[in-house]
Amino acid sequence: MNCPKCAAQLIHKSYKGIMDVECCPNCRGMWLDSDELDRLEDAAFDQDHLKGSLIHRETVTDLSCPHCGKPLVEFQYRLYSLRLDLCAEGNHGFWLDAGEDERVLEIMRRRAAEMNRKLEVETEWRATLKQMHEIFKQGK
Ligand SMILES: [Zn+2]
Ligand SMILES: [Zn+2]
Repeated sequence: MNCPKCAAQLIHKSYKGIMDVECCPNCRGMWLDSDELDRLEDAAFDQDHLKGSLIHRETVTDLSCPHCGKPLVEFQYRLYSLRLDLCAEGNHGFWLDAGEDERVLEIMRRRAAEMNRKLEVETEWRATLKQMHEIFKQGK
């Protein structure tokens, strides 16, 4: 397989011990198979139902899928300011430029923190409601 960006031969590499990915030794981008983006995200945040939808505002690029040669589609990642590429036609996977894997992890970590905070607020609110309830009961 060749790099969709610079056409160098992709090499097989272990990614943080999570999985094996195809990396470009030249531009440092990487190809993730269709389930590997999810595995990357799960390293930081594994609540799939709280991640939101993955693909927004797709545009066709002039890069081609290293598997099938069809044009890759660029999309906005989960409404964040990050754009990734995917093979929409063959569902072969995703192309991440150098450093974009770290952006994905950073976004997922932030998301996990937000969700924890939301949970804390909800627990606090429930406790407040309970207290109010007690006060009303005493007032009677
Ligand atoms: Zn490359
Ligand atoms: Zn493809």
